[in-house]
Amino acid sequence: MGSQEVSSTVDWQGKHVTVAGLGVSGIPAARALHERGALVTVVNDGDDERARAQAAELEALGITVRLGDGATLPPSTELVVTAPGWQPDKPLFLAAAEAGVPVWGDVELAWRLRGDNGRKPAPWLAVTGTNGKTTTVRMLASILEAAGLRTAAVGNIGVSLLDAVLGETEYDVLAVELSSYQLHWAPSLRAHSAAVLNLAPDHLDWHGSMAAYAADKGRVYEGNTVACVYNAADPATEDLVREADVEEGCRAIGFTLGAPGPSQLGVVDGILVDRAFVANRQKQAQELAEVTDVNPPAPHNIANALAAAALARAFGVEPAAVRDGLRAFRPDVHRIEHVADIDEVRYVDDSKATNTHATEASLAAYDSIVWIAGGLAKGATFDELVTGAAKRLRGVVLIGADRALIREALTRHAPEVPVVDLDRTDTGAMSEAVARAAELARPGDTVLLAPACASMDMFTNYNKRGEAFADAVRARADESA
Ligand code: ADP
Repeated sequence: MGSQEVSSTVDWQGKHVTVAGLGVSGIPAARALHERGALVTVVNDGDDERARAQAAELEALGITVRLGDGATLPPSTELVVTAPGWQPDKPLFLAAAEAGVPVWGDVELAWRLRGDNGRKPAPWLAVTGTNGKTTTVRMLASILEAAGLRTAAVGNIGVSLLDAVLGETEYDVLAVELSSYQLHWAPSLRAHSAAVLNLAPDHLDWHGSMAAYAADKGRVYEGNTVACVYNAADPATEDLVREADVEEGCRAIGFTLGAPGPSQLGVVDGILVDRAFVANRQKQAQELAEVTDVNPPAPHNIANALAAAALARAFGVEPAAVRDGLRAFRPDVHRIEHVADIDEVRYVDDSKATNTHATEASLAAYDSIVWIAGGLAKGATFDELVTGAAKRLRGVVLIGADRALIREALTRHAPEVPVVDLDRTDTGAMSEAVARAAELARPGDTVLLAPACASMDMFTNYNKRGEAFADAVRARADESA
């Protein structure tokens, strides 16, 4: 079964499909394919209690599940559908490549099955990038809703694309967040329009190199029909547009925090303006919204708003809906979230800052900061981050497994900044981190949790880390009240 022949009209009856990974994408994929008559085998590395319970449910439907061995390709496999996070160099994929068996991710499967329920498929407006994806996709959905369109924020955002394309609800357009992993496994995806927000090293252990990571992100532009939206401040994103093979007439649209040139969106005197989707872009600019309509109006977030506006405008949305949608947007939790003010010190939870690029943006949003950082560095270095922020650091509290890496960067580039090194990873560690940060802070300062690291050394995920921070802050607020 070559990848070209399989489409929404494919006859799944009797096809041998191997689903790699029991999990949020694997289970619905296995069910959807089984319902269409495919002979599905799910393979999974883990063999714990949870996996067994999930396996039992699938087996009751007639799906074969093989626990404890995600490496061996079942011999009759004609197609592999993988969970996006599975590393491309796994033996299962090497075996598939050798046997000429195509591998699809969850996004590819959703793309191929859209329209399969007899409905006209909704076009996709896609967003990727190292940071800001979720925020931008939610802003975009809010704008599309304000324009009266039936839409949803879907993809790498908690709502599976498969559910969105096969579910009961009908959509006019989808606001789709795509991770680099998902794009890697989505060879035939063709979005209406797409944006790459920025490109900084992340997940390099998975992709193997920066070039491979960039190439996977760039896949989002392939086959775009109306607009490829790039970040004018990040030339690597524009390079990806140049390299993409798009439909005739598709335009490159830039966004910038400065005054926009023709075919760009940007900012003039506190106003978000569009010089791309106007009748005469040499002479004309259309006012979309005020900077203060963006919540919060930090520079990186204004960039997100411009990207969302560009995609909405590419879809034909009127300027007033851009403004109304941005005004109605509320940021997600753990993203530069204001928790409390105690003794004139502001406490902000940006637990979602799991890499240095995100942390750089949040450190840039405040003047005088007690910074709580650390966790799993994922191969990152911290010299540039610390150099850029040194002047604004009142103090630093370090937590987590790789904190020595940040401490060494601080010693090199900000030796005068006081550093508290917390050598504990128990449940009380965050509470102590907040207490030590409070000791360092002076009135007017911001205590900012922006770890620049993943959380899994100490917490289940970044949500739990953010909650631990917010709980500790609120407990202090109650004490001081
Ligand atoms: P993603 O879905 O790409 O992880 P989020 O919108 O959830 O993006 O934001 C993740 C983190 O990145 C947050 O900590 C936020 O402060 C930061 N961030 C958001 N937008 C940007 C941007 N445009 N550039 C840099 N950092 C950003």
